[in-house]
Amino acid sequence: DSVFNHVVRAPEDPILGVTVAYNKDTSPNKLNLGVGAYRTEEGKPLVLSVVRQAEQSLVNDPSRVKEYLPIIGLAEFNKLSAKLICGADSPAIQENRVTTVQCLSGTGSLRVGGEFLARHYHERTIYIPQPTWGNHPKVFTLAGLSVKYYRYYDPGTRGLDFQGLLEDLGSAPSGAVVLLHACAHNPTGVDPTVEQWEQIRQLMRSKQLLPFFDSAYQGFASGSLDADAQSVRMFVADGGECLVAQSYAKNMGLYGERVGALSIVCKTSDVAGKVESQLKLVIRPMYSNPPLHGASIVATILRDKDMYNEWTIELKAMADRIISMRHQLFEALKTRGTPGDWSHIIKQIGMFTFTGLNSEQVAFMRQEYHIYMTSDGRISMAGLSSRTVPHLADAIHAAVT
Ligand code: PLP
Repeated sequence: DSVFNHVVRAPEDPILGVTVAYNKDTSPNKLNLGVGAYRTEEGKPLVLSVVRQAEQSLVNDPSRVKEYLPIIGLAEFNKLSAKLICGADSPAIQENRVTTVQCLSGTGSLRVGGEFLARHYHERTIYIPQPTWGNHPKVFTLAGLSVKYYRYYDPGTRGLDFQGLLEDLGSAPSGAVVLLHACAHNPTGVDPTVEQWEQIRQLMRSKQLLPFFDSAYQGFASGSLDADAQSVRMFVADGGECLVAQSYAKNMGLYGERVGALSIVCKTSDVAGKVESQLKLVIRPMYSNPPLHGASIVATILRDKDMYNEWTIELKAMADRIISMRHQLFEALKTRGTPGDWSHIIKQIGMFTFTGLNSEQVAFMRQEYHIYMTSDGRISMAGLSSRTVPHLADAIHAAVT
């Protein structure tokens, strides 16, 4: 007779649940396109060779100990992370207006940022795109913010609903927080153009909306760290304030190391210092201080010119493989004469394609072809290979005809 008898079983996480179902499938042809993690052509997880190298040098250094990090993490990691996202010669960094704290990957950075805002910012509403990464509404609600949506995706064009976005942000209360995917919007793979970003920036600044960037895919989307940071840098360059959550899960393949950073760009270094002091009060009772290993790997790579260059090459190779999968899938559907316009497969960017398949078609493909994806029709291009593209194309063709 347990004191927990009354506890009801919670539903599986909608994204991680896809993998649970996949693991139970005994078909040799099964294909998991639900996971948000990179896979090689052979379908295997990848540890970057530069990461192995960095780990080796850490292991071989006898001066390294396992002491606690400070509450805000590894100072050098924080400095280098801010430079990576803002740009090495960013005036905001030079003027000491950016405070950066090491957090538990992208998710932890969003949560710490959210809790800081709930405690110290005057407007508790955060606008997030419709649709967005499924964890966003939960993270911000639990952080103490009130979540509202702004229009983002137009199913008709399978592209950006730019008019809807401008209208919704235009009618948001002055000062509201706005969550923006820095690049490679998840799940749609649809990003604003540079011109559209500029319009968004002008609108947001004119209404004093506070940007909170989620940067989970820097370098992983286009293959260029600078190109993928452009949206953030436009907002930092205008001298205004913003928050940025960075993750090294995808772009360094450090998923399970849980390494990321929250930067808050402030108007003055005095404000940045005070903000940092309050971030410590958010973090200390939550998990005391962040883990050492992942941040040490990142700092080792970012500080060394050769390792950094090698990283950019390996990063571009991952991005290029994903882009190549888009082209192969698009061509395979063209070859089959699959009805419909599939050009969004090559137009969208990042790890995911938002196929436009509905939940019945998704269920059909799982049932008949043992292909697993989230019910919104999102497929991970990183989980695909030249070998599995024909199987997926056959399944999509059958599902829509
Ligand atoms: N934000 C977005 C848009 C994501 O897609 C992800 C991961 O899938 C994350 C944040 C957080 O990932 P992590 O906490 O593993 O860095």
